[in-house]
Amino acid sequence: MTPSALLDTLAARLGPAQVLTAPDAMATHLAETRGLYQGRALAVLRPRDTGEVAFAVRACAAAGVPVVAQGGNTGLVGGGVPQGGIVLSLARLDRVRAVDPLNATLTVEAGCILARVQEEAERAGLLFPLSLASEGSCRIGGNLATNAGGTAVLAYGNARELVLGLEVVLADGQVWSGLKGLRKDNTGYDLRNLFIGSEGTLGIITAAVLKLFPRPASTATAWLGLASPHAALELFSHLRERAGGRLTAFEYVPRFGLEIVLRHAAGARRPLAGEHAGYALVELSSAGPDAPAELEAMLASALEADLAEDATIAASAAQAAALWSLRESLSEVQRHEGGSIKHDVAVPVSRVAEFLERATAACEADLPGVRVCAFGHLGDGNIHFNLTQPVGMDKAEFLALWPRFNRIVHDIVHAFDGSIAAEHGVGMIKRDELSRYKDPVALDLMRRLKQALDPQGLLNPGKVLVDPGKILAPR
Ligand code: FAD
Repeated sequence: MTPSALLDTLAARLGPAQVLTAPDAMATHLAETRGLYQGRALAVLRPRDTGEVAFAVRACAAAGVPVVAQGGNTGLVGGGVPQGGIVLSLARLDRVRAVDPLNATLTVEAGCILARVQEEAERAGLLFPLSLASEGSCRIGGNLATNAGGTAVLAYGNARELVLGLEVVLADGQVWSGLKGLRKDNTGYDLRNLFIGSEGTLGIITAAVLKLFPRPASTATAWLGLASPHAALELFSHLRERAGGRLTAFEYVPRFGLEIVLRHAAGARRPLAGEHAGYALVELSSAGPDAPAELEAMLASALEADLAEDATIAASAAQAAALWSLRESLSEVQRHEGGSIKHDVAVPVSRVAEFLERATAACEADLPGVRVCAFGHLGDGNIHFNLTQPVGMDKAEFLALWPRFNRIVHDIVHAFDGSIAAEHGVGMIKRDELSRYKDPVALDLMRRLKQALDPQGLLNPGKVLVDPGKILAPR
């Protein structure tokens, strides 16, 4: 089938208005948030239900045309950027299919925006804890396809831990209806977890049964000034010992991070009088009304033990939101300081401080003046180890050093038995790095899975796994 015959077939089923081919209409689907990649596609499809998704995938398979699934297109690794073929936007699959408060589950379609999923859970008197700075625009299908992390992983786990069932359109257009809301189901291989985190390379997620949780009766948020990353780690251990699973966030922000937020984020205000080497944003949740008093007592003992230099507890929801906004603005404000080379990495929590010290020293030795902006989910061992260009350096010249810094940072991550792709995924940006650092047996298993589930190699080709030609090579 020729490309134009394929588009005619798709337009006949989906309606011509849902097959976008005009450059203007397609533009936002062809580039990613940070502008690092520019893609190209025959068309952007906007199906409205699983049947239309299955039809489109089947038609593309028959024509040998690649399909790239897209949710909110907020991914940071170039995973949703097409290199030809069809973009399949899940945006119109945005229905809530079922709410079951007693089973504590919500069944939603892949195109539901994460913030809406959170609202639906709240309406049922429950909590869907997945929380990311992009929650106003990312979609649940994208969250699951990337196994998103965010700020609530500490207490509730990654997206993977928040799903009970999935509905998936396979590479040949068949629909796997795995929408079960079961907490126990040992009937063979775990198919659900194959698709979660597969970044659109094994199937198209069209709906999910999500796990909901009781809403905390009270939460308390604090901002602490710290002497070093080692102090941050000790503080984390101190709080976790006392709060256990009620410690619902522990985020680290370095001094440079706070400085640039204060410089560039509208309305941002310094939360403590003095300056410190680093800061922790912590949140305690409780089933009773006493989270603020409990957190206050924990902070008092931390200050007494010299684990923190200063601390403030939010006295209102608005103050808590202002503290969170300091942390959440960090992703955005870095660009105002010029080029930023980013590494989303994880190491064992016990080694985070040591990693920060070693990687910072190595980067500063390699490029004097480079400004390390290493922040993030310290309680999960997940650090966004970002490098801001030296003042006055040419941005393009700095960004050209990205591969060199990958080697420096990822070698250290590897030596720490860590992960070079902690929560954002592999996409295109980490694909070659993955083939360098991932265990060869694991890579071979991944290739075999890809071959079994997508023998033509049409689902999001060129992402996650290097060398798609190899995937198709006869064994
Ligand atoms: P998209 O960007 O559209 O797609 C991402 C990948 O999933 C692509 O490979 C795509 O092909 C595939 N895909 C999308 N939908 C489907 C589907 N239905 N079926 C199969 N494959 C699909 N991420 C974190 O983990 N933690 C954070 O804290 C975090 N913070 C962020 C903050 C900001 C300001 C921004 C811009 C991004 C942040 N991200 C974070 C990254 C991003 O928001 C997440 O990866 C999000 O889960 C992507 O969802 P999306 O709907 O935008 O997916």
